[in-house]
Amino acid sequence: METGLPYRILLYYKFVPIENPEEFAAEHLKFCNELGLKGRILVASEGINGTVSGTIEQTQKYMDHMHADPRFADLWFKIDEAEEPAFHKMFVRHKEELVTFRVEDAPKPFEKTGKYLSPKEFHEALQNEDVIVIDGRNDYEYDIGHFRGAIRPDVKSFREFPEWIRENLSQYKDKPIITYCTGGVRCEKLTGWMMEEGFENVAQLHGGVVTYGKDAEVQGRLWDGKLYVFDERISVPVNRTEEDKVIGKCHYCGDPEDRYINCAYPKCNRKTIAHTHCEEEHRGYCSEECEKHHAAQQDMEEVVG
Ligand SMILES: [Zn+2]
Ligand SMILES: [Zn+2]
Repeated sequence: METGLPYRILLYYKFVPIENPEEFAAEHLKFCNELGLKGRILVASEGINGTVSGTIEQTQKYMDHMHADPRFADLWFKIDEAEEPAFHKMFVRHKEELVTFRVEDAPKPFEKTGKYLSPKEFHEALQNEDVIVIDGRNDYEYDIGHFRGAIRPDVKSFREFPEWIRENLSQYKDKPIITYCTGGVRCEKLTGWMMEEGFENVAQLHGGVVTYGKDAEVQGRLWDGKLYVFDERISVPVNRTEEDKVIGKCHYCGDPEDRYINCAYPKCNRKTIAHTHCEEEHRGYCSEECEKHHAAQQDMEEVVG
């Protein structure tokens, strides 16, 4: 979709063996800095996962460079156009895993992963009453937007999924299950692990909600609310056919809102949904305890300093 906007935001991943990922990360950072790209890229021995922003020219050069590498020749970039850059710093980090799962014997997605569903197939599956829909993201992401009828994962981070699934979904091992996440990377791991765990019929939304929202035919149907994203936009619309429903609720007053803040007490940093006026009224703290602790700490710092 050409919109004539000056910037692009790329979201991408690929599970493919990378030798010497630490060295790769260092060289990749140098390359991105030379290009002037900003964003966050993770590199592991199992592949690459990134989101970056830059001008059309910078992002084009980046994609061409990646596609010239045989390992990434078929790397799928999801592209958003934007008025302004979505990042202001460039990080390339080496990590043990692209998404931290910490399950010793979990299959690598290039060995085993759930069946891929196109947006159209996923949209059809959503309407099948027999199908269990699992949101493969964190609870706070679910809270500002999700597919209608999806189960809310009671997890604060991805590595909590195995325990949550074992405790809550073990009775559905013979049911058809579909999963989704932002750009698809988490479902690659989640579905492979679920298959190992004995779930017989597991499929995933290929390209994630980002791709679903751009599909010309489904147009984001059956998605309610906004999509939480990991750049400075914080959230983006998905459903292009219905009123932009606000389904989040303000942490302070309970009225509809979909604006995220972090608790002003750095040690807490909890993510909550809040109106601007409610945030101001509570000076940005998620609780009275956080405000008290922070004040106490600042007093101490003053004494020490
Ligand atoms: Zn409020
Ligand atoms: Zn707090």
